[in-house]
Amino acid sequence: MRVAKFGGGCLRDASDFLRVAEIIKQDQAEGVVVVVSAVFGVTDMLYNGARYALNSEASIPQTMRNIRTRHLDIIEAGVHNPVIMVQVKRLIEERLQKLERLLYGVAYIGELTESVRVLVLSQGERLAAVILAHVLQASGIDSEVLETDCIGLLTDNVFDGASANLSRARYNIQRQVTPLITSNATPVITGFFGCNEAGQTTTFGRNGSDYSAAVIACALDARVLDIWKDVNGFMTADPKIIEHAIPIELLSYSEAAELSYFGAKILHPRTVEPLRDSNIEINIRNIRSPDGPRTVIWPRGQAERDVIKSIACNSGISVLKIHGAGVGFKPGIIGEIGKTLSLVNINIFSVITSQTCINLLLDSRDSLMSRDALLPLVGGVIGEIDVRDDLALIAVVGEGLLTTRGLAARVFSAVAESGVNVEMFSAGASDVAYYFIVKREDMEPAIQAVHRSFFESKATT
Ligand code: ASP
Ligand code: MG
Repeated sequence: MRVAKFGGGCLRDASDFLRVAEIIKQDQAEGVVVVVSAVFGVTDMLYNGARYALNSEASIPQTMRNIRTRHLDIIEAGVHNPVIMVQVKRLIEERLQKLERLLYGVAYIGELTESVRVLVLSQGERLAAVILAHVLQASGIDSEVLETDCIGLLTDNVFDGASANLSRARYNIQRQVTPLITSNATPVITGFFGCNEAGQTTTFGRNGSDYSAAVIACALDARVLDIWKDVNGFMTADPKIIEHAIPIELLSYSEAAELSYFGAKILHPRTVEPLRDSNIEINIRNIRSPDGPRTVIWPRGQAERDVIKSIACNSGISVLKIHGAGVGFKPGIIGEIGKTLSLVNINIFSVITSQTCINLLLDSRDSLMSRDALLPLVGGVIGEIDVRDDLALIAVVGEGLLTTRGLAARVFSAVAESGVNVEMFSAGASDVAYYFIVKREDMEPAIQAVHRSFFESKATT
């Protein structure tokens, strides 16, 4: 059986929904469980709609008009059976009414708590699932919607960025999904969210539907998890930077996880997490060319001759430099920094330390708040804190990278020959990745240099 997840980029208009239905039809023989995210752009509309509602009740009719039109346009052009059309419109109106009431609730109470915000955000997946199930029915495929907070995809208590409780979610998902499969109905399951023990909706964070699809694939012991996108899988580099980047056919779980963590936008970085102990193969496929190139992601890795498989980058990082004589020796200092930042909900991306300076890599959006949170620590061991906002991170990823002699030299001489200075680097933390930091304006030339050295002879042969 396959679990097939369709992201917002595959759900832009009616023709996309019809294309998705065609794909599901082809996979019927093997058995397919569908996971959907919201229609393209709808989660943003919900996010902004909730914010506007908090400021002004008067914004709600416009938010509702936009969201209603977006979905009704798809139904009008995508559902050709009049009986099913009436049915799907009724279900969508019911859902929209609930959303509208939620937004008025936010406006009247004058409060947008995390739990209410994620409940609003989760409406996009519910609407998309209802439409897709009816598009499938109109094309002769029996299908049923399952909402993940109703079927018990259990998570911890984090509302935005939850983690699934795999064993309990597995039990509940199997109990709800298996009877549908046995009766030949295609389940259409909402991605992106689950629920905590109290039954409240929790989300896996923005773009988290890849992760939820992995949880569902794991729970159902699927053979394959297809993640449908509107691009061709992983590439040797970001095609916006390297025009002739090459599609990658095969990656290991670890390679895919590191590439995503360090900046490749194609897959949510947590997708392989639930699959670690499984043998499930992930296929990243392009909805605009279903038979074209795809990336297959396997549990185990395979080193290639030139070792490096791909270069990822992130220009949205900042480095917080925490100076102080002896910071390297003072017991507990990193713990104290970590605790202080976690209290304000800031995630540390990576740490590089020396005797006189601790360098924290953070999301740029968090840099000033982090510095402010850490200021009370200044004066003791910590002397001063600088923020570097002019940097970018480049990661090279490939199985065998740590054990291959001369590889770092090859990467860094390519960078040096392009005239770029490496400000910092870190290797050894992962078996399959290392990264280095350059000035933001040097990021593209550095990537081009490494790409040239490792891939361009291949591209021309
Ligand atoms: N719809 C959600 C978002 O836009 C989840 C997802 O697309 O994966 O963040
Ligand atoms: Mg999305």
